[in-house]
Amino acid sequence: MKEPIQMVDLKTQYHHIKEEIDQAVIDCIGSTAFINGPSVKEFQSGLEKYLDVKHVIPCANGTDSLQIAMMALGLERGDEVICPSFTYVATAEVIGLLGLIPVMVEVDENTFNITAEIIEKAITPKTKAIVPVHLYGQSCDMELIMKLANKYNLFVIEDNAQAIGATYTFSDGRTAKAGTIGHIGSTSFFPSKNLGCYGDGGALMTNDDELAKKMRMIANHGQEKKYYHKVLGCNSRLDTLQATILNIKLRYLDNYSQARNQMASHYDTAFENIKELQVPVRQFNSTHVFHQYTMKVKNGKRNELQKFLSEKGIPSMIYYPLPLYRQEAFQQFVDSNFKLPITESLCDEVISLPVHTEMELESMEYVCSQVQLFFNS
Ligand SMILES: *Cc1c(COP(=O)(O)O)cnc(C)c1O
Repeated sequence: MKEPIQMVDLKTQYHHIKEEIDQAVIDCIGSTAFINGPSVKEFQSGLEKYLDVKHVIPCANGTDSLQIAMMALGLERGDEVICPSFTYVATAEVIGLLGLIPVMVEVDENTFNITAEIIEKAITPKTKAIVPVHLYGQSCDMELIMKLANKYNLFVIEDNAQAIGATYTFSDGRTAKAGTIGHIGSTSFFPSKNLGCYGDGGALMTNDDELAKKMRMIANHGQEKKYYHKVLGCNSRLDTLQATILNIKLRYLDNYSQARNQMASHYDTAFENIKELQVPVRQFNSTHVFHQYTMKVKNGKRNELQKFLSEKGIPSMIYYPLPLYRQEAFQQFVDSNFKLPITESLCDEVISLPVHTEMELESMEYVCSQVQLFFNS
């Protein structure tokens, strides 16, 4: 094989669009409009159009976007915010940082996402918001979650860092992009995300004019008018240079999602007869954009499989090895013996295989054959 297999191949992806990117970056530097330059506005409206959402507010990174969302909702110290226990730390980190209480709940064993049924059991009089995470690339069942949120008068912030471009279908046939269904959606343009820039970046989405105004103000030092500060805010901007790159990459996003889906189907087929493996379960009412191709190893040999693959030159990752409620930083929010059975077993069973936009068929087939070899020998 020519190149070693990688989890994410940003280099080859760059080379395919190098001319466009290089020219745009040179032009951007030449313009010296590094902060709030024209590309930022262009990206904002481009993403609004792509997602069919009224407002996109670009910001510095995905973690900031979650924080700004929570600041805009007027939550108060001690309010409870429900989030999954099986997610990237950022989701719950900002809840705790703002003096709110992260209530970390179980996830569905097949979709890895939280559900309305799970959320409802965790609602108390102190609950103020829910943060569904569209893990690995498919949307949570947002229709049921929004119904529940309306019933209990709760805010919903979708953490859409992993599922940009996924489409959710409501029971009446209406569709919406993940991240545009809750009161606020948040996302990240970290380089390895499905729409990644060449550094840090993030954005917020909402159809609510008031919330949009508030979030824009918070991201800009709490000011609407320069040097007049209405609320305490932060400094969270998307660099013009990053917006310039994102404007180009947004045009390829659907192709990238399609490439990821093709690879996922390839894996699905190759592994369908391995009974010790559970390939990703596709939710009937959401498309999947395969930020990760994450399987469950059902025979207790997940770590052995990872070691075996590594020896064969195949990278793999464990997202996530430890439930949030077991992280040292989160002990202040849970009893020391707190445990959720599905989350616990997922941390022992999941493994993510390389799936990216530039993977060659030859590499795919090599990965498939080595996984098959592991289980058949
Ligand atoms: C990547 C990610 C974030 C944070 O995004 P950053 O841009 O790295 O701050 C938040 N939530 C989830 C689920 C993520 O995967």
